[in-house]
Amino acid sequence: MKKVISFLLIICLNFSLAAFAETVVFNPDSKIYHSLSCHHAVRCKKCIKIDKKDAMKKGGRPCKNCGG
Ligand SMILES: [Zn+2]
Repeated sequence: MKKVISFLLIICLNFSLAAFAETVVFNPDSKIYHSLSCHHAVRCKKCIKIDKKDAMKKGGRPCKNCGG
């Protein structure tokens, strides 16, 4: 039973962390940000991984394909 509780706790922790910091792949040239799994992001060589809110602060727009 103890194992189950700690397992659930880890899941909850991961969820709340993900809600606070969502990492996106940001292209500083086009100012478009992608989700990590987007094929544009995988191909993009000059893209950087930053927080979604930081990308927005830099004037970033979500990718039309993946929604950012
Ligand atoms: Zn994309």
